[in-house]
Amino acid sequence: MPSYEISEIERLIDGDLPWTRVQEIMKDAKDVDRFDKWVAILQKRVSWKETILLPLTTALFIVRKGRARIVKCRCGHEFGDYRVNWKLSALVHVRETEEQLREIYRGTEQPDPSWIQIREYVCPGCGTQLEVEAVPRGCPPDFEFLPDLDTFYREWLGRPLPDEVEFTDRTLDTVRGWGTTGR
Ligand SMILES: [Zn+2]
Repeated sequence: MPSYEISEIERLIDGDLPWTRVQEIMKDAKDVDRFDKWVAILQKRVSWKETILLPLTTALFIVRKGRARIVKCRCGHEFGDYRVNWKLSALVHVRETEEQLREIYRGTEQPDPSWIQIREYVCPGCGTQLEVEAVPRGCPPDFEFLPDLDTFYREWLGRPLPDEVEFTDRTLDTVRGWGTTGR
């Protein structure tokens, strides 16, 4: 198993998106050392104490909070259960008119506003733009990455998390809950 210098990993972090790194690490069989050092560096950079289980983006992390696993922004804002698409709890700015789309696209690149909209997801805590998606109107928010955390820790890192949970997308349960509670 290769071992990596902390400084080397730090350079990798600063040059790349975390998700890109996760994909590389997961392809790189059993590269536990690198993963652990990478997470240790990210953990040092945040001001809160919850343990980072897996970085999702440059700003978002899955962390352990008590017995729960939640998505947390580097600013400390919490988005809830990691199995529910965090975008449901983000602020959303939608661009859907020709004029709004023209602010970011030029000429023929501009998608057809009659069926495509741009959604910008923003953290309610710090205002960071967390994700942008171009999707057909009416399409539910794209859940880019629902990691199988338990399998990752058990099979790839060789140290199962103590509190394994059911691996399932809970997003629709949450949306259904809105209907019954009148949110
Ligand atoms: Zn934030």
